[in-house]
Amino acid sequence: MERNKKARAKNKAKQLYLLSGLVRCGGCGSAMSGGSGKSRDKDYFYYRCYTKHNKRSCEQGRIKKEHLESLVLHQLRLILAEDRSELIAKIRKVLNEKFNTFASEVKIFKKILGNVEKE
Ligand SMILES: [Zn+2]
Repeated sequence: MERNKKARAKNKAKQLYLLSGLVRCGGCGSAMSGGSGKSRDKDYFYYRCYTKHNKRSCEQGRIKKEHLESLVLHQLRLILAEDRSELIAKIRKVLNEKFNTFASEVKIFKKILGNVEKE
């Protein structure tokens, strides 16, 4: 009994649903979440519409986990490749502004402290 349980747990590898809650159903706009099933002796994994799963009021079918994840990763890669320099410039600008503000605040504090020490 105990051995059976362990063997079963080993077979059922933990799946990481990267996109769970992040992607929305094209049919109704609900969040998609991960699910799994078994066909013959093979486990399969998919994303499903929350509304479809719980209220059955959406027509959107399940999407294969691998398929959706590779599609999203591909799109993400394209976006990153295109906008990287612009993105880095933006981050740099924000950091510079923050640093300048910080530097001038430090100057003011130093001045105040200097005055306090002199008194
Ligand atoms: Zn839906």
